[in-house]
Amino acid sequence: MKGNTAKSFFPIGIVAGILLGVVIGSIHPETGIRIGILGRLFLNALKMIALPLIVISITLSVLSLGHTKTLGSLTVKTLTYYLITTSIAVLIGIILVTVIEPGKGGKTQIKDIPQAIFEKREIGISDVILSFIPSNIVEAALGFQILPLIFVSILFGTALATLGKESAIITQILEVLNKALMKIVEWIILFTPIGILGLISERIGLEGGGDAVLKLALSLGKYVGTVLLGLAIHGFIVLPVILLLVARYNPVLYASKLGKALITAFVTASSSATLPLTMKGAIEEAHVSPEVGRFVLPLGATINMDGTALYEAVAVIFIAQSYGIQFGIVELIIVFFTSTLAAIGAAGIPEAGLVTMVLVLEAVGLPTEGIGLILTVDWLLDRFRTVVNVWGDCVGAAIIDRKHKGTTCLQITGEE
Ligand code: ASP
Repeated sequence: MKGNTAKSFFPIGIVAGILLGVVIGSIHPETGIRIGILGRLFLNALKMIALPLIVISITLSVLSLGHTKTLGSLTVKTLTYYLITTSIAVLIGIILVTVIEPGKGGKTQIKDIPQAIFEKREIGISDVILSFIPSNIVEAALGFQILPLIFVSILFGTALATLGKESAIITQILEVLNKALMKIVEWIILFTPIGILGLISERIGLEGGGDAVLKLALSLGKYVGTVLLGLAIHGFIVLPVILLLVARYNPVLYASKLGKALITAFVTASSSATLPLTMKGAIEEAHVSPEVGRFVLPLGATINMDGTALYEAVAVIFIAQSYGIQFGIVELIIVFFTSTLAAIGAAGIPEAGLVTMVLVLEAVGLPTEGIGLILTVDWLLDRFRTVVNVWGDCVGAAIIDRKHKGTTCLQITGEE
């Protein structure tokens, strides 16, 4: 009863957090920045729990899949889904930016580019591949590098699975640890409204108020509009239709179970920090089976980024248009492949896509300085693309779950 009352008040808390954050950040930017500490505490708590959760849940998932010998087919299905949906997203981006031409005749000024982007100039395909296998696991964990940890967890889970009955005790321990971590996630969730309030008020405060944010968005209006339109088509039409047709799930019902995760993706701009809530929503509330969700969701948070891929393609072609360069079919094909790769290589952290964009720019011979054209609005667009990234991961989990076990969790009718 008590739990139910808290549950029904929760959405009100979230809405209040958003509104209060906007109001405080807009009316009194300094106070907005000061209460940003609440948001950072929330973000720290999510990141704190994300790493052990990833390692334990992937190991557990691989262990159970390893026992049933379905790990290989699940991996193939997962990667196929990622590639297909990411390609669709990039294609939407390329078509929209080519038709709308937001950069044509633009007189946008180039801003100073952060050092981090220059340092990534040498990034190449081999770097993305090399990042899979860590030479030092502790260093990878310290640097919040998730891909190497996923690799190690898959390896560890597979090795444990080969031990047969001997690994039963480890499985039991990991299950208990996983339950304890999920309990902590539940406690962190209680602070979501306060975290949202802090994150929103600080961001708006840092920009100098709500007016400034609006002006900023309007300053690159056509470009911002093209990215948002692309994300909306992918998030509201393409992914729900795939969910409905392939998995026979009700997209509205599914999205409602993932509300906390999607809002958190927006305010944190980080798929990895959102992961604990994504897993809680998909597995515990939408009933995606644990062995599938525990594998597909952490992997997706790291390599499946539909929103980022779409954004990379739009941004690079926009930069070319701003320089007065018209891309031919060959350049567009290069943009298609490198944007996909850049999205796979981007970490699930704020503005990671901006850094890996260097790879796409260099592939088509554009200067890194071009990033300066879109720098000011990147933090804003980052939030929208992160929501689509997380939504894409969740849709993937439902589809792969359906393909894996052949039954549905949330039916079209809404029955569970
Ligand atoms: N912030 C995005 C994410 O975490 C990555 C990016 O596009 O910058 O999913």
